[in-house]
Formats: sequence, C-alpha cells, structure tokens
Amino acid sequence: PFDVLVVGGGPAGAAAGVYAARKGIRTGIAAQRFGGQVLDTMDIENYISISKTDGPKFAAALEAHVNDYDVDIINLQTASKLIPAATPGGLHEVQFESGASLKSKTIVLSTGARWRSMGVPGEEQYRTKGVTFCPHCDGPLFKGKRIAVIGGGNSGAEAAIDLAGIVEHVTLLEFAPQLRADEVLQKKLKSLPNVDILVNAQTTEVQGKDGKVCGLLYKNRETSEEVCLDLEGIFVQIGLLPNTDWLKGTVNLSKTGEIEVDAHGATNIPGVFAAGDCTTVPYKQIVIAAGEGAKAALSAFDYLIRN
Ligand code: FAD
Repeated sequence: PFDVLVVGGGPAGAAAGVYAARKGIRTGIAAQRFGGQVLDTMDIENYISISKTDGPKFAAALEAHVNDYDVDIINLQTASKLIPAATPGGLHEVQFESGASLKSKTIVLSTGARWRSMGVPGEEQYRTKGVTFCPHCDGPLFKGKRIAVIGGGNSGAEAAIDLAGIVEHVTLLEFAPQLRADEVLQKKLKSLPNVDILVNAQTTEVQGKDGKVCGLLYKNRETSEEVCLDLEGIFVQIGLLPNTDWLKGTVNLSKTGEIEVDAHGATNIPGVFAAGDCTTVPYKQIVIAAGEGAKAALSAFDYLIRN
C-alpha cells in the first residue's frame, strides 16, 4: 500500500506528489489524464516566475518534476469509488473503472473540474482562438477588443465587470428572462458605460474567420429574431463542474459538488485530503491548485506521523 495516494494528475496532484515524495514516503498518483486541464490550455502567463509558457509544455514540466522523485504514476485510470478505512489509521481503498484497486494510508483527492460549454456550432472549433472560460487567464489578450460574456450568474457578472476594465466593450448574454447574479453585482454592471446586458438571449453559433472568432449569433427568445454580434472574444461562464460524482455519499460535498475542505485541505474523513479545482477553495487557477496540492500533501504527512 501507499502512504499517500493522489487521485488526479493536474497541477494540484503533481504538487501533492512532489511534496509527499520529498518526505521519503511511498507515493502514488493515479490519473485519468496526467496533466489535467492545462493540456487544453494555450498560453499560460500567470504562473508566478514563468512569464509565459503553453499548456502542453507546462504539463510536460509537471510530469518531469514528479519523475525527479520516486513516485508511481498510474496514468489513464479513472477512479470510480472511494472506500474509506474501516478503522482510524486503517487503509483507504480507491477502486477504478478498469477493475483495479489501490490502497493507501492517506488519500489526496485532486480530480479537478471541467467548464460547462454551450454546445453550439463553432464553440469547440474556436476554443482558445477567441472562445475561453477564464477571465483571469485570458482577459489581457482582449485589451481594446469587443467581447461577450455568456451567463448572467455570479461568475458571468464578475467576469463582465472585471473585463469591462480591460476590453473596449462587453455584451453579457443571459438565457433566462433575468440575471441570476447578486443584486450588488447587477447594480455595478448596469453602472458601467461599456457593458450591454441582453436577457432572453440564446447563443446559437460562434462564428470565425481566419482561424479566429469574429462574431456570435444569438436568438432573442421573446421575438425569435436572430441577431449577429461582431466581436473577438467569448467568455463562457455557465458553470464549473467538479469531477466528484464518484465521491457522492463518501466525502462531504457542497451544493455544487465541490469537496468541502478545511484550511489544511482535510475532508470530513480522517486521512482523506483534497486540493485544487475539485474543492471549495475559491478561484480556480493553476497557482492556487498547486499551492493547495502542496498543502494537502503536508497535511497527509502530518496525519501519518500522528497515526
Ligand atoms: P485539473 O487540472 O482539472 O486536473 C484534474 C486531474 O484529475 C486530471 O489529471 C484528470 O484527468 C484527473 N481526474 C479527473 N477525474 C478523475 C477520476 N475519476 N479518476 C482519476 N483521475 C481523475 N489557470 C491559470 O492559472 N492560468 C491559465 O492561463 C489557465 N488557463 C486555462 C485555460 C483553459 C482552457 C482551462 C480549461 C483552464 C485554465 N486554467 C488556467 C485553470 C487551470 O487549468 C485549473 O485551475 C487547474 O488545472 C486546476 O488544477 P487541478 O489539479 O485542481 O485540476
């Protein structure tokens, strides 16, 4: 059995693996796809000390760093069940879709999350070529340009307010008849001169030219009129889905499915920790996931020396 078994091989899992291995304890990382979301990322310009890199390069560097240590990487394995230790200090078990199972004294859950997409023509084709999920990551790329934010919940409203300070113009599109964002955010939005808000607006197509986004089609759901907006960027903010379905009924999850953790990354199950985008920790970013992964591994080590 492992001392620390990390489930998930994104920035959080890789950091947890390095920190655990540096304690000289038996460490494994099991992942569906080692690298995680960064594999789908183009430029990364906000990982402190690296001015600019790209996703595949960053993912390769994560793996190389983990491989500097004696860590078992078990790639292309999807966890399907966590069976917590029957007694305190006992072994936890993780079962995988393949039928395999691994046991460990402590577990770090770092299965990340995925952004909900609109599912309209052009969206996949122009992903990272104008279609993006992350205002913190990609906002500066659209300086002086026209963009749309899809989704009128809190994350859409926050993104629109944030981006309005960088880009030339923001159109916020909400499918429902009203925005769902908090009143204070709606008030702030409405006070901004370069933000238009459209409700009852159903995005139907992302349009592009020369390999880049050039516009967005939407249907006015009241009048059924189809309208085309000229713009260069589309920020999709219709939900982040944590990869935690397999944990339902074991660790405590929030309303939105995020693993509830305390300041040490501990879950409600002794010896089971969690880190990164799959947790309740706010702001889903690489630098934050990596820091949380390190923290969860140190917490697991602390647990081991006490049990
Ligand atoms: P993830 O990166 O999601 O990794 C999760 C890991 O768990 C993966 O290995 C996955 O295969 C695995 N996994 C999932 N389910 C299971 C399972 N059941 N069993 C086993 N393994 C499983 N952040 C920035 O800071 N800067 C950026 O520029 C930036 N750009 C982004 C661009 C895009 C297109 C996207 C999608 C995200 C971007 N982000 C960016 C966000 C950043 O990628 C995430 O915050 C970060 O990757 C989270 O790390 P994580 O380790 O928590 O999870």
